Amino acid sequence: MSMAAANLSQVPALIGSHLSIAGGLCEAPREASRLGLSCCQLFTRNQRQWKCRPISTTEAAEFREEMRACGWVDGLTRVVSHGSYLINLASPDSRARAKSVAAMTGELERCEALAVAVCVVHPGAHLGSGVRRGIKQVSRSINEIHANLPGYRVRLCLETTVGAGTTLGGEFEDLAGIRGGVRCADRVGFCLDTCHIVAAGYDCSTDSLAQSVVSRFDRLCGVESIKAIHMNDSCMPCGSRRDRHAHIGLGHCGAPCFRAILRLAARLQVPCILETPKEMTPGGKQWDIVNRNILRELACS
Ligand SMILES: [Zn+2]
Ligand SMILES: [Zn+2]
Repeated sequence: MSMAAANLSQVPALIGSHLSIAGGLCEAPREASRLGLSCCQLFTRNQRQWKCRPISTTEAAEFREEMRACGWVDGLTRVVSHGSYLINLASPDSRARAKSVAAMTGELERCEALAVAVCVVHPGAHLGSGVRRGIKQVSRSINEIHANLPGYRVRLCLETTVGAGTTLGGEFEDLAGIRGGVRCADRVGFCLDTCHIVAAGYDCSTDSLAQSVVSRFDRLCGVESIKAIHMNDSCMPCGSRRDRHAHIGLGHCGAPCFRAILRLAARLQVPCILETPKEMTPGGKQWDIVNRNILRELACS
């Protein structure tokens, strides 16, 4: 290994958590800093309501100031936005799809105002119209969103899902297919979720299996298009197609899974976000800190 490669492999992964914006948007990065985390994810709005107001100039200025206060103005992605769960860009119903396109346009407008570079969204559900048709609808929706927002810098990042029911994203082919139909493909990235890939059936329980899953993703989607990672263990076994997040090390993902994804995250310098329950451990510690420390140990092992 050359010196440059040796140094590169020692750059640690950015590890953070999905944090609450109760009390204002600045509360998420502020809390991340308090906990000693190096990135965070937030909703820029109430994710269970369609309605949302635009970001005010004051709000945007305050948020940028908070970024500076956190020392997060180094060009790395430190804040990830997660889009509303109501959005379904794959819907076969034209009215529902139009509503989702409008909502997703709003999500990206809010990100752009806050200088948030990554907005994660689930690809959506085809609701019985079929995988191929669903993929086409998502590409079409994204093309419409891009046309609404020319010149935007924020990237829409499609998340891997467990593939339950008619939801897309349980197979890497779905994500590749969606981006394949987008005219400005460089405006689309991906978010890998460790719980979701395992629950979707990608076995990462040994080093070689985990590595081959990463290679498979790379072949189909390109790892350099991964702009965020969700670090969750899975309560449910591999292939169960059920989405239940566990604390790191207490689920079915396995250490080889986290080691492989942490290596990738360190190399790409993309944010790794914990989406695990927030309550305290029986010993009175913050779970985010415990999970972060376990990930750090795994990264060194
Ligand atoms: Zn996730
Ligand atoms: Zn999940």
